[in-house]
Amino acid sequence: MRARREVVPVALKALDIYKMLPKKNCKECGYPTCLTFAMKLAAGKADADSCPYLDEATKHLLRGATRPPIQLVKLGVGERSVPVGDEIVLFRHEKAFYHPPAIFFSISDRWDRDRIIAAAARVMDEVFPRVGENLRFNGLAIRNDSRDPAAFGRAVAAVEEEAEFPEVLISDSPAALEAGLAHCGNYHPVIHAATKENHAGFAALAKRFGCPLVIRSGDLGELATLAKACTDLGVRSLVLDPAPGNLGEFISRSTGIRKKAIDRSVPDLGYPVYLDAMAFAPEEAAIVTGILKYAGVIVTSVLSPGTAKMALTLRQNIYTDPQKPIQMTPGLYRVGEPGPGSPVLATVNFSLTYFTLLGYLEASRIPCHLLIVDTEGFSVLTAVAAGKFSEKLVKDSLDRFQVAGQVQHRTLVIPGYAAPLSGRIEEVTGWKVLVGPRDAADIGEFLGKEWVAKSPPAP
Ligand code: SF4
Repeated sequence: MRARREVVPVALKALDIYKMLPKKNCKECGYPTCLTFAMKLAAGKADADSCPYLDEATKHLLRGATRPPIQLVKLGVGERSVPVGDEIVLFRHEKAFYHPPAIFFSISDRWDRDRIIAAAARVMDEVFPRVGENLRFNGLAIRNDSRDPAAFGRAVAAVEEEAEFPEVLISDSPAALEAGLAHCGNYHPVIHAATKENHAGFAALAKRFGCPLVIRSGDLGELATLAKACTDLGVRSLVLDPAPGNLGEFISRSTGIRKKAIDRSVPDLGYPVYLDAMAFAPEEAAIVTGILKYAGVIVTSVLSPGTAKMALTLRQNIYTDPQKPIQMTPGLYRVGEPGPGSPVLATVNFSLTYFTLLGYLEASRIPCHLLIVDTEGFSVLTAVAAGKFSEKLVKDSLDRFQVAGQVQHRTLVIPGYAAPLSGRIEEVTGWKVLVGPRDAADIGEFLGKEWVAKSPPAP
C-alpha cells in the first residue's frame, strides 16, 4: 500500500514533466529516452540541467517542481555544521524523519566571559554515547539582551575563542548583528529574526555574509510573503519562526507550515521551523513538542544533565527510520578481557538489546564473549517469534566467527526468551546450552551463580 501511494504521484509528476521536454530522445542527458529522464527528475534522481535543450524558464519551472518540499538548510560550516529540513512526510510512520532538529544552548551578552566560555565548552565537549551513536548539542544562540552592539560583539568573540560549532545571533538591531558578524561572519551563523518591518536590512546582511536567515511572523500568509521577499532579495537559506504565544499555537502553526509545504500548496513555506523553547514553561514540554512537531532549530537554556539526556535521547529515537531497526554488526565482541574459560553469550543484533546487555555485563565485571547474530535488527522476542533467531543461525554464527577457537569449553548462554530453542540449538551446534535470564538486568547475578560459582561448567 505504501509503495503504491509513493509511485502514483511520482508517475503523475513524471507525465507533467514529460510534457515540458523537447522529446528528441538524443540521450545527451545520459538517459535512454526523454520519458526515462522525466521519471528520474520526478523521483528527484536527475537534474534539470542535464538536458541541454531546455530553456532557462522551463529549467526554473522544473527545479521548482522537483526540489524537496522543505528546503535543506545547512547551519554553520565545517565538521560541526548541521543540515536541517529536507523532510518529505507529515507522519514518521509514512516513511521517516531525516534531519534531526539542531539544538542550541542560549546565552546572553550580559553574561561574564567565564560563564559564556563554560557554556561553549559544554557544547564543544559534551558527548552522550547511546546505542552506537555519539549524541551532542549543536551550537550556541547568543542573545543581544544588553541591546549594546559592543557587548554583543564581545560575547560573540568570547564564543569564537572556544567554538567550532554553529551559532545563532539573536538581535533586532542590525548594528549589533554587524558587530557579531565581524567575529563569526565567515562561519555563516543563523541570523534571528527578520520581520515584515526590517526584512530588507536583515536580508542584505544575510546575503552579504551567506547566512541562513530566520523570518518571524505569527501569520502563515505573512510568513510566506516574507519568505518570497527574502528569496527575491537573494537569501537562499531561510528558517521560519511562527512566533507562537503558547505551545498550542506552535503545534498548530508548525503543523500548518509542514502540511502546506509538503502538499506544495504554499511552496514559500517550504523551510525548516524555529522554536525558542525557553519562551514556554515548562521548558522540557516545549523541547519535546519541538522535537515531535517539526522544529528544525530549537533554542534552549543551558540544560541540566537530566534534561539534556532526555532531549538527545528523544531526538535520536524520533529520527531513526521506523522501518529499519538500529542494528549492530554481527560478530564476536569482547566484554572486558575474556579468556578461554570466559562465558559465551549469544544475542540478537538489535542495537538497544546489545547496548542494554553490554551495560549490565560491564557492571557485572565478569569478562565474556558476546556473540551477536544477524536477526535483521529484531529484538529477541520478535526474532524468536518470526523465526529470525534459529538453531541454524546460531550454528552458522558460531562457525562464521570461529567462536570455538576462542574458548576451551563448549557452553553457550542464550537469552531467556529463546528458551524454546535450547534443545534444537544443542542438537545442531553440539554446544551445551544455558538459558539465561529474560531480563538483561539479571545477567550479572545469573553469571555469578551459573558460571563463576561453577568455574566454568564442565565442557
Ligand atoms: Fe530528451 Fe533532453 Fe534527454 Fe535529449 S537530453 S533525451 S531531449 S531529456
